[in-house]
Amino acid sequence: MAADRASNTDGGDEFALIARYFAPLAAAEPGAFGLGDDAAVLTPPSGCQLVATCDTIVEGVHFRADDPPESIGVKVLAVNLSDLAAMGARPAAYLLSAALPSAWRGQPLDNWLGAFTAGLAALQTEHQLALIGGDTVATGDRLCLTVTALGWLASGQALRRSGARPGDRLFVSGSIGDAGLGLAILSGRLQHGGADARATLVDRYRRPRPRVGLGQRLSGLARAAIDVSDGLIADLGHICRQSAVGATIWLERVPVSAAALATIGADETDRMPLLAMGDDYELVFAVPRERVAEVAVLAGELSLPLTEFGVITAAAGARQTVVTVLGRGGQELSLDRRGYRHF
Ligand code: ADP
Ligand code: MG
Repeated sequence: MAADRASNTDGGDEFALIARYFAPLAAAEPGAFGLGDDAAVLTPPSGCQLVATCDTIVEGVHFRADDPPESIGVKVLAVNLSDLAAMGARPAAYLLSAALPSAWRGQPLDNWLGAFTAGLAALQTEHQLALIGGDTVATGDRLCLTVTALGWLASGQALRRSGARPGDRLFVSGSIGDAGLGLAILSGRLQHGGADARATLVDRYRRPRPRVGLGQRLSGLARAAIDVSDGLIADLGHICRQSAVGATIWLERVPVSAAALATIGADETDRMPLLAMGDDYELVFAVPRERVAEVAVLAGELSLPLTEFGVITAAAGARQTVVTVLGRGGQELSLDRRGYRHF
């Protein structure tokens, strides 16, 4: 399209960049045709359904302008793999739309793309998927990146948000609040903690670890699952609304890392904000009570902490809060801010 073309980078540059930086990431998938055709052609494994998801990250919103470009590559793919994980899917391929600041033209763009694609390469090697297409345009605005990720799932096995039942036990992988604290450190809002703890938290913000292996193992075990992108309470709230249930969680049981504990106070009021912090990309899932022992086995096999922190209850009815947080004394705690919202 001519109008589209006018906004693209000039002349042959764009194609040279695609050949140099993006085509190597497509080498493992023959159906990507080396990024030389109009679109990719994939062959679904028999008995599988296609799972598709798309996430955009914007400079100043999802990452900081001073984040290393390699970590931005990790993040844009990781947040999408996290959605595939939350559905129980096995990653297969992804498409990348990159709106790159026109002011970077020349060597700065080359440097940036080299590091950015190294981040993509690391994550796609770890999770065995390939780049199969995308779009590259210049923008007069901020850096904006969109990935569409595709995965396969045995037919009918999708992990939905809607299957939780009263009595189900709630689990969460890893630890909660690290990424939010990492962001607070980078923005100068959090001054506490030693250098190691602070570096760990910043890394958790910049390089999410999507729980891809866990997601696939949960299909058939968990009745509902979601990944934590906007905050534990907000995302658990989505499970509750989709399942027409409520949830009660115990603040003390929500897993908090040693690094996080090194930067926050010991009071309940210090821990509460962690429940509303986003960007952790852990999985929250509901398991029937009689199958909780299987979760402990799974945690051992995956070498990943899976912590029981709450229970699904009957629907909250007319009450505003679907997720009830209880403190040490059994008292109900309230949050001013329940999670991240764009609008
Ligand atoms: P058109 O606009 O005519 O569709 P493009 O110049 O956008 O063609 O893309 C040419 C080829 O390069 C296509 O196969 C496209 O999927 C691929 N491509 C373009 N940009 C990217 C990117 N950022 N990542 C991966 N593949 C890309
Ligand atoms: Mg195009």
